[in-house]
Amino acid sequence: MSEPDGRLTALRGQAREWAADFRAAALELDRDPELIKDCLDLPGVRFLSTFGVPAAFATEPPAVGPYRFDGTNGLERAVVLEEFAAGDLGMTLAAPGPSMSGVLVAKLGDEEQQEWFFGRMTAAPTWTCFALTEPDRGSDASALGTSLREEDGELRLTGAKRYVGNAARARYATVFARTRPGPLGVTAVLLDTESEGYHAEPLDSLGIRGARIGQITLDGAVVARDRVLGRHLSPARRGIWASVQVFNELRPTVAALALGVAGAAHAYVREHYAGARGEDRDRIEVLGRRIDATRALVHRAASAVDATGDGYLASAAKARACALAEETTLAACELLAPAARPSHPLLDKLVRDARGVEFMEGTRNIQHLNLFQGLRSGKVGA
Ligand SMILES: Cc1cc2nc3c(=O)[nH]c(=O)nc-3n(C[C@H](O)[C@H](O)[C@H](O)COP(=O)(O)OP(=O)(O)OC[C@H]3O[C@@H](n4cnc5c(N)ncnc54)[C@H](O)[C@@H]3O)c2cc1C
Repeated sequence: MSEPDGRLTALRGQAREWAADFRAAALELDRDPELIKDCLDLPGVRFLSTFGVPAAFATEPPAVGPYRFDGTNGLERAVVLEEFAAGDLGMTLAAPGPSMSGVLVAKLGDEEQQEWFFGRMTAAPTWTCFALTEPDRGSDASALGTSLREEDGELRLTGAKRYVGNAARARYATVFARTRPGPLGVTAVLLDTESEGYHAEPLDSLGIRGARIGQITLDGAVVARDRVLGRHLSPARRGIWASVQVFNELRPTVAALALGVAGAAHAYVREHYAGARGEDRDRIEVLGRRIDATRALVHRAASAVDATGDGYLASAAKARACALAEETTLAACELLAPAARPSHPLLDKLVRDARGVEFMEGTRNIQHLNLFQGLRSGKVGA
């Protein structure tokens, strides 16, 4: 199924309503990302704070009308997050909740670990972060160098992570580290960031400033032994394999975030240039049709990941949605005025955010490489 049914239409309508609050706070949050702490009572932020907690661990799964949503289904996530991102991508990514770590814990955690982690998510809005990227090892995550070793009778993490969303706000971090050389030597752990040896600081950024991407130094940070994820699985089912699965699952969501940015820029230019005629009007219409077509691709890709776990089509969706976000935001600037960015701060922000989402979960080049592998293996149709 790739078209939203009645249930998802209700979810979309509610998310769109909640996203209006995100839009109202967007520019302020962009100026001062710490303002997220004053936004925790917004219904959309509250919804995100438990979105992704599997039904088995949710005290009260988020509800819209008669429907309940736990956010573990890719199509659901794509529908919701496109709307929230159209309100404001910064707020969407600044919200507390299980987010990417939730997908990893649901995949790799045993019963007790899931109960521990998701229990904390339902008890109070709690920030988490997903620490994979390292300095100089972004696109090639399998080359990561952070180590997880036994030292002084404790399991300790040593290394550095960079560009991690919410790194300095997170109370719990999922961290990828190496126990030995090679792809099977990578393991993910759940770390309490109050552990001595965890230091995180925000990095200044131009785009998606709300997400407060940061760098983390792990200076012998102690990991509780029962927080090593995938301990009940074979080495081949943990680590890099798990990160690939998590990325497959999340890719349609990231595509939906980019689509939300494109949709916001499109709505903005339609509102502020309502009298467009001739070529300008045609250009705006064509962009709208391409956004609709890309949404259909994103939903198809989300359904494919839900059905098979394969993320090849999702790579096409992510690459296309990011290209469209950049194109639409820049076209909106051209259409509005020769110097639209200083006089339209929201549009200026959308241009910056579109560049940021390109890097999340792999750049276009990496998505093209992945798609090519899918085409070669026959797992995605030409
Ligand atoms: C807003 C934002 C949020 C993020 N959140 C997180 C997070 O929560 N957790 C986390 O771990 N990381 C996060 N990241 C990091 C993100 O995953 C990396 O930025 C991304 O993987 C790219 O890595 P890099 O920045 O080191 O670029 P590089 O890998 O250095 O790439 C630089 C350029 O080289 C190109 N390139 C690299 N390899 C190849 C290749 N083999 N073939 C062709 N071209 C290539 C890339 O396309 C790119 O254009 C986030 C980034 C952003 C911008």
